[in-house]
Amino acid sequence: MQNRRDFLKTAGIAAAGSSVFGIAGCAGMGKGSGGHVVVVGGGYGGATVAKYLRMWSEGQIRVTLIERNTAFVSCPVSNLVIGGLKTMADITMSYDNLKSRWGVTVITDEVRALDTAKRTLTTTNNGTITYDHVVLSPGIDFMTDSVGGLSGNEALVPHAWKAGPQTVILRTQLESMKDGGIFAIHIPKAPYRCPPGPYERACLVANYLRQAKPKSKVLVLDANGEIQSKKALFTKAFESYKGLIEYRPNNELRSVDAKTRTAELDFDKVKADVLNVIPPMRAGDIAARSGLPLINDRWVDVDWITYEAKGVPGVHVIGDALFPAPTMPKSGHMANQQGKVVAAAIINLLAGEAPNASPVVMNTCYSFVDGKNAMHVASVHQYDAIKKQPMPVAAAGGVSPAANEIEGKFAHAWAQNIWADMLA
Ligand SMILES: Cc1cc2nc3c(=O)[nH]c(=O)nc-3n(C[C@H](O)[C@H](O)[C@H](O)COP(=O)(O)OP(=O)(O)OC[C@H]3O[C@@H](n4cnc5c(N)ncnc54)[C@H](O)[C@@H]3O)c2cc1C
Repeated sequence: MQNRRDFLKTAGIAAAGSSVFGIAGCAGMGKGSGGHVVVVGGGYGGATVAKYLRMWSEGQIRVTLIERNTAFVSCPVSNLVIGGLKTMADITMSYDNLKSRWGVTVITDEVRALDTAKRTLTTTNNGTITYDHVVLSPGIDFMTDSVGGLSGNEALVPHAWKAGPQTVILRTQLESMKDGGIFAIHIPKAPYRCPPGPYERACLVANYLRQAKPKSKVLVLDANGEIQSKKALFTKAFESYKGLIEYRPNNELRSVDAKTRTAELDFDKVKADVLNVIPPMRAGDIAARSGLPLINDRWVDVDWITYEAKGVPGVHVIGDALFPAPTMPKSGHMANQQGKVVAAAIINLLAGEAPNASPVVMNTCYSFVDGKNAMHVASVHQYDAIKKQPMPVAAAGGVSPAANEIEGKFAHAWAQNIWADMLA
């Protein structure tokens, strides 16, 4: 990775010194003299961009992070909590280092509106906040209304697709399920957050049931025509749970009866003991409802050099909320990478310099198939000046030959490393 000195040189900061931040509205030198960036959402993308803006600008850019939750809770590894192999404490971390070590102003609040003309944000408890640049990394919100009977019933039919209280609800339901019960998980049509995530969950639930309630069954009801990630590897993993996991493709959910935990699908009706519905999703509300350009009315359309919403200068969108480039997954790793590209771009823009014209991002997603064995998929995406979007780099990345124990260890290390990269 490029070190800080190289980076600042590229960004024009080390060479020009702090005078490059002599932009309109700046009130002298020291902390924050290089402009004010507000980051909305302290998840994988937002925490990263906040920390790297402070680190790479050597504290010259003032950064405010607004996050509605008091602590960070990781979706990656949350399937292990549902499978009884990790606890909520293992995936919950504080924002203290961002404050004390990096000087980020962290505000626990909800951003309710964005005025792109005035460059202001309205919050619930902290009034109106002005910015020079804003980075939205709000993740996803669910289109719950598109599944009949689901709205308002998420406690009975949890998604657990945002880690937190829903993760606990799903784990508790699984623990209370009788031996011989049916755990059904429904996967929405792609694109959705974390393509391999639902299949990993099916494996980890089966792993738990095999030991604790072996007469039970996991039904994987997939709206898609086939497994969406690591297909050959998950097919093999499902075979290793023969009799326990049943995979049913082309099964789109129409409605649920939450009380009886019955799912009405296109061609089927399933009564489950635990019904885990991952609803169709779109960009988080603040990104989807602020008049930014959307594709399919769901995902924000961005300029892939600066990640600014197209035609809306100063409003950058990263992570799951944006419309993905070809083969680009909605993943924590990708959001973290995009956070760094955007931190660099904003530093350049505030310095009056052109951002890097050819950013590269990469992704690795590990999936556990049981308590020990994991497998990965990796890819590299480089900006293509003709197509004006990142394209997968041929022959870079790939998938594991098979799930194995050493990758199980790598998967745990990946989580520790990325959490440290964002939050330590
Ligand atoms: C079960 C599961 C397993 C996964 N496993 C992996 C994995 O192994 N590897 C991997 O790379 N990815 C994995 N992912 C995907 C990963 O979690 C997401 O892609 C990643 O979290 C996206 O980052 P983000 O910053 O876009 O959103 P998030 O990380 O969800 O962060 C969004 C934040 O914004 C906050 N927010 C939203 N709106 C507002 C507002 N208006 N005001 C204030 N705060 C707001 C939210 O509270 C949230 O904290 C998994 C996901 C799931 C569900």
